[in-house]
Amino acid sequence: MQQFYSKKIFGILIIAPSKKHFDIIEGYLFALLDLDKRAFLKVIRLMGTIFVTPFNDFYNELFLKNNIWFVDKDFLDKKKNYKGAFISVLVHETHHRHQYVTGKIEKKSGMVGGQIEKAAYRIQIAFLKKHNFSQELRRKQRQLKESAWETDDSSGESDKKYENLLALYKSGKLKITKI
Ligand SMILES: [Zn+2]
Repeated sequence: MQQFYSKKIFGILIIAPSKKHFDIIEGYLFALLDLDKRAFLKVIRLMGTIFVTPFNDFYNELFLKNNIWFVDKDFLDKKKNYKGAFISVLVHETHHRHQYVTGKIEKKSGMVGGQIEKAAYRIQIAFLKKHNFSQELRRKQRQLKESAWETDDSSGESDKKYENLLALYKSGKLKITKI
């Protein structure tokens, strides 16, 4: 059975397969605080749990109702010097939480699409622009232009693995050691 660790950082519960992920996430949150205090406060107000998955991949998935954001571990392990990517996705996903709590996303379905997605992209792009993350900015601008979320064929397969992990977590079957 996979071992996980948990720790609260700025009030956000972090669950991760390795303790080193706490330092990485804490570093990113401090970087966000330095860059943009308003965005930082929005994140710590709205994000409940960041769950670093044991999957060797770069996907992430937010479960609005459960307030859990799953992030694959490669996204942290293999992009160490690329904080723009992680921080701006965090800003994007936090905006979905904002849309959710303010009733802009239908609470029963929790669906994210169309205008909802565009709004979050715009927030993310504005953030990247403001803080000169030019490489990630170009990528996001391209994705917005192509409405990338509509053609993301990875989501079916990846959703399932997060759903399974969420179900295990909720049933208390995961081995999680509090730090
Ligand atoms: Zn989105």
